[in-house]
Order: sequence, then structure tokens, then C-alpha cells
Amino acid sequence: MKIINHIIDYNFVNSFDINTLRESLSIPLKSEDIYFTSFTCVSSDISKVYTKSLIKSIELEKEEILFFLSDIQTRIKLYNLSLQSKNSNDINHNNIEEFFNIILKKSIDNRCSDIHIEAMNNSMIIRFRIDGILKIFYVFEKAFFVLLSSYIKLISKLDITQIRLPQDGRFNKEIENKSYDFRVSSMPTINAESIVIRILDKQNVKKDIKSLGFSSNIYKELENISKLKNGLVLISGPTGSGKSTTLYSLLKLLNNSNKKIITIEDPVEYKIEQIQQVSINEDIGLGFNKVLKNILRQDPDIILIGEIRDKFSLDIALQASLTGHLVLASIHSNSSVETLSRLVDLQADTYLLSTTLKYVFSQRLVLLLCKNCKKKGCTVCNFTGFHNRSSICEVLKVDENISSMIFLKNDVKLIKEHLKNTNFVSILDDGKEKVKEGLTTFDELYKVVCDEI
Ligand SMILES: [Zn+2]
Repeated sequence: MKIINHIIDYNFVNSFDINTLRESLSIPLKSEDIYFTSFTCVSSDISKVYTKSLIKSIELEKEEILFFLSDIQTRIKLYNLSLQSKNSNDINHNNIEEFFNIILKKSIDNRCSDIHIEAMNNSMIIRFRIDGILKIFYVFEKAFFVLLSSYIKLISKLDITQIRLPQDGRFNKEIENKSYDFRVSSMPTINAESIVIRILDKQNVKKDIKSLGFSSNIYKELENISKLKNGLVLISGPTGSGKSTTLYSLLKLLNNSNKKIITIEDPVEYKIEQIQQVSINEDIGLGFNKVLKNILRQDPDIILIGEIRDKFSLDIALQASLTGHLVLASIHSNSSVETLSRLVDLQADTYLLSTTLKYVFSQRLVLLLCKNCKKKGCTVCNFTGFHNRSSICEVLKVDENISSMIFLKNDVKLIKEHLKNTNFVSILDDGKEKVKEGLTTFDELYKVVCDEI
């Protein structure tokens, strides 16, 4: 994290030949008297770059050095805009608007889901969450934080003077002729406010189920859901495992004019045509349970319950699937079999459960090796070696055997034993296929699957 303690003066960097800096693996920070301060790494060769003999080296990873020397024109531009807005009375916010628009464009170009803007002890940082991982993209002077956060609060219609309480807002921006919605959260911390911007990319709900990277046996079972007239289908996994994207792409698969589809979401983030979406709004008394209680009067064919979170939502899901509806829902749990014990923990009626439950999918997202560099690091993957993610999954199909085991409240161990004698493919085995194909690594696979089990 040394990068957050030293603000790189990109005008100074620009006085050197950038290619030479890249070759030497160093970033010059400042020249003082007889000293020269520079970021370096173990493989740096700075003899060609600096004439002064006394070098103060601050060590960074090689990939970090290359990353902070990449996209150099943007970095120079952002650095100067931050200085200009700090040093002038930027009454019309022209500099800061230009600065912020560049940040937004960069975040979208990098498929970022959230932008984090935070004040540190001596600096402010901008981090992008890409493929689930946060990475520091830019570091600026701490004094710039107030200017930027005030501008963001202004365009999000938040109270600029309020810095002691959390606030939520939204704004919309046109970026390269495409309209984007952004959800903003400001939270007081001991340093300053922390600003987090969620990018609501409508493309997320338009994703075809084929594009999510499921292996062919999983994809076949997902397709089979469209043949079901009723029953309960669960997608399980921890937060950030891609459950919502799978559920939305399933809706896309099931959506046609002969079907009435209702969703209960907290809140609705993406509008989908032809689907009746209900957004939970506790402030006006439109709670999750209230919607659930009334949903069957809307004569739906398919119901999507954002998340089964308690006995009440589970009971409604079971009742609805028993009375001729197809119910799709997500649930927090580690594996398909453990989902069954989670349902029993929620005091599910095992008769109802054994009759209505059709499938439990358990999924995760694994990082894919960057196709451009295969783990060596390049500008495509921001020197991380990975680019994009793919779904790995296991599916528990509730056949007669499993159904009776659920009804008899058999222990999870027994069900696991039974599955060993069937052609059940665990999520780990599904992931191993992706390693064999050279798409990801064992390390990454074990990180996402085994760390939680
Ligand atoms: Zn790469």
C-alpha cells in the first residue's frame, strides 16, 4: 500500500521518456538536492534513467510500477485537472466535471462495478472494483477529496453540507452516447466521507444465459427449467457469486407474452420489458412480506423472489410453487446439499419441500486468465493476469430419491453419500474442467470454492 503515501507528480514523470521508465521499471517521484526519489522494484535497472547517484528507492511490485505507467496520457490529464481545480475557483465545476467524466469513462471501459473514492491519511484514492476485486487506479492529494466529493454529492442531489450522516442518491450520465445510471452512497468515516458509486449497467440484465460460461450439462439443466409448469428452483451461493445475473438471464429465457412474470426486488435496479417488477419500499410500508402476501392475487405464472431470507418468504415460495406457480429464488448457502439443511433450519415443511423443490444450483464466479498475456500481466488485465469471470456450478436435481430423503429429513451426510453413487458433478469438479481447458488456475479455483467450504 506504499502507493497511497506518495502522490506521483505526472508532470515530473512526463519530463522523462516513458518507454525508458517502463524498461527501467521505475517511477520518478522527486529530485531534491543530491537525492532522487523513485519507486523501484527488485528487477529495476535505473542506471540509464537517473543521473544523480544518490537514489532513495521506495519499493513497489513490478506490476504496480507498470500499471501506474500505463495509460499515461490519461494519468497526466487527471493529475493536471486535479491541480487546476484545487488551485482555482472552479465555480462552474468545469475542471472537476471533466475530471469526473474521465473517471466514469475509464470505469466503464474497465467493466468496473463500483467506484470507491476514499480519503487516506495523506492522500485520496480512487479504486475500481473489477471482476469482484478492488484495485487502486489513481492517487491524488488529500485536499482534492472535498472538491470531488462535493461535486459528486451535488450531481447526485445529496445535501453537500451534511457530512455526518450516510446519504444515498443517484445520477445519470451520457458516456459515449450511452446513458448510464449511477447509485451513490456517502458514508462518514473517521478520515472523511467515503463515497461509493455503483454503476448500474443495464447490459447485466440482458445477458444471455449462454454467455455466463456454464458448462454444457449445467446449461442443459438451466434450459430444462423452461419446461417446468410449477415448482421451486433455487440458485445458491454467497454474495457476489453471480446469483442475480443467473436469475435475470433465466427470466430472459422464460419471458414470453403467454406468461405473467412478477418479481419482488429490494430494490428494482434494472427494468425488464414485459415483466411486472415490484420494488420493496419499507418507507411507505411496502415491505417484502406485504408484497409476498398479496402476490398470488396477481395471477402470476412465474414469480421471482429476490432472496429467501426467512421462514415467511420460504413458506410463501413453497405455497406458491405447490399451487401451480414456478418460483425462482436465490438463497445464501455454501453448496447445493447444504442449501437443503439451510431450508430445514428455516423450518421448511419437509412434505411441501419434497414435493415442490425441483432444482438447487450452487454457483461461484472464477477469474479467467487474461487471454492476452496468460498471467504475465498486460494493459488489458491492468497487470493482474486475470480478465473477466466465468460461472462454475453444481446442480442438485431433486429426483424421487432425493425427494424422499428430504421428506424423511435425512442427514446431509447421507445425501452426500447417495450423490457419490450418481453422476452428480460437484462445483469443484466443474471448475477443474475449466482449469484443464487452460481458462483459469487451480489456485483461483480453490480460493473461490474451498475457502468457504
Ligand atoms: Zn493480460
